[in-house]
Amino acid sequence: MTHPMVPKPTFDRRTLLRGGLVAAAYLAVGGSYSRAASAAPIAVPPLPYAEDALAPVISAQTLSFHYGKHHRGYADALNQKIAGTAFADATLEEIIRTTAGKPEQAPIFNPAAQVWNHTFYWQSLAPKGGGQPGAEIAARLDEAFGGLDNFKKEMLATATSQFGSGWAWLVVDAGKLKIVKTANAETPLTGSQTPLLTIDVWEHAYYLDYQNRRADYVTAVMDKLLNWEFAAANLGNAS
Ligand code: MN
Repeated sequence: MTHPMVPKPTFDRRTLLRGGLVAAAYLAVGGSYSRAASAAPIAVPPLPYAEDALAPVISAQTLSFHYGKHHRGYADALNQKIAGTAFADATLEEIIRTTAGKPEQAPIFNPAAQVWNHTFYWQSLAPKGGGQPGAEIAARLDEAFGGLDNFKKEMLATATSQFGSGWAWLVVDAGKLKIVKTANAETPLTGSQTPLLTIDVWEHAYYLDYQNRRADYVTAVMDKLLNWEFAAANLGNAS
């Protein structure tokens, strides 16, 4: 495939009308595109709830910084990096999959994957979440872990054993539910696993509210905020 970092050539208006820009973008990102030639920058979706809706488990102050500064900051960094390159016309998922596993592309992969991971994280939480999952998820948790309590124990162990920054995930892997962790910006999106839920274990996710007590943050999120309906919807899409 064409090297994805080739700068996008400039076209005059006549060339644009012939579709030359779209064709060039199509080739440059390896055969797929879906944002149009006049693509808007990668945008961060609105939070699915108010900034104070997850308190006291996650404070409004944490959400204000985490969503308003960190998440948006990743999008700003990404848009600066892709401006004028073939990626300016690619979807977020295309950018992540094209740059994954390539150290020289890390300056683009890292902010792109962090934009995606955070959007998925906000959806993984709900103001009245936690509690008992629906029947299908409950049955799959029984099958994979021996029940909700054992799932929580394994998720807690995984989340607290991630050394440094990263993410803990509930995924579907070859038809079975599984818990995995990823470092920094790494995401199951780039492999064969389908993510169902995630918990951000970067210090910026909990330090204002829990300081060094990552286990207390993860436990409170699982008990009070996990969005089992989102997990069920993702499970439905995976099968
Ligand atoms: Mn984060």
